[in-house]
Amino acid sequence: MKRSKFLKIMATIPVATAAMKLSCLDKATRDFSNTDKMPVLFLGHGSPMNAIEENEFVQGFRQVGKEIPKPNAILCISAHWETRGTYVTAMEKPRTIHDFGGFPQALFDVQYPAPGNPELAKETQQLVTSTQVGLDEKWGLDHGAWSVIKHMYPEADVPVIQMSLDYGRSPQQHYELAKEIAALRKKGVLIVGSGNMVHNLRMVAWDKLNADDYGYDWALEASTKFKQFIADGDHKRLINYTAEGRPFQLAIPTPEHYLPLLYTLALKDEKDEIGFFNDKAVGGSLTMTSVKIQAG
Ligand code: ZN
Repeated sequence: MKRSKFLKIMATIPVATAAMKLSCLDKATRDFSNTDKMPVLFLGHGSPMNAIEENEFVQGFRQVGKEIPKPNAILCISAHWETRGTYVTAMEKPRTIHDFGGFPQALFDVQYPAPGNPELAKETQQLVTSTQVGLDEKWGLDHGAWSVIKHMYPEADVPVIQMSLDYGRSPQQHYELAKEIAALRKKGVLIVGSGNMVHNLRMVAWDKLNADDYGYDWALEASTKFKQFIADGDHKRLINYTAEGRPFQLAIPTPEHYLPLLYTLALKDEKDEIGFFNDKAVGGSLTMTSVKIQAG
């Protein structure tokens, strides 16, 4: 072919379209190409006010954000999104959901405009084969996600998707579901479980809210056992928590703040190291204890 003819043919290809396709391809491969294995976190989120207050817990979230490699995207399993069946958020621009009442206007004014990542939602959907994962277009980011992630990535420049908690699943089934998404750790995705290990809002000691590290005896006993089982890798007892007696019953009156911990632990490889931070009790019946799992 003569050079002039070749150039004419090239000229007929819409350059903008070709460039756009290339950049999409580049984005997809950049997002999901193999990376070093990302850490996994469990974040005790506590009061929504942590979103706008300055305190040691917020500093802990900020610190962990600095310690770990910056992820391509975050997948968050939040205590505050329970559904029948399992869903992942698949919108381009998740809204900031203010899913609480009785707090100052300043908290309702917070927006966390991190983008979504529909490609990651589809990738997650495909990884899970034990059940059908639905793509959700309506949810967004609830405060279990944004009130903590905003401290780690204040620029809102890391895409975030959420995965819901199916309230029809047993703790064992949640744990097994989490294992199905383990491959995301090697694709630059930071998986974050967001809840609280000890979480009994009916028993909060309101007069002790400002006391440093104040927990009821049963809360401290449960917290010590949680940490022991986590450190020992005794996930069986953590999954079968209802058999552990009164301190666990009081710590976990309903399962939604506890289950995200099981997702985090299920993603731990044998040789991964485990560490705790923000390990304090608040108001008697709540612990902020958070977990960082990372390659050893
Ligand atoms: Zn919560």
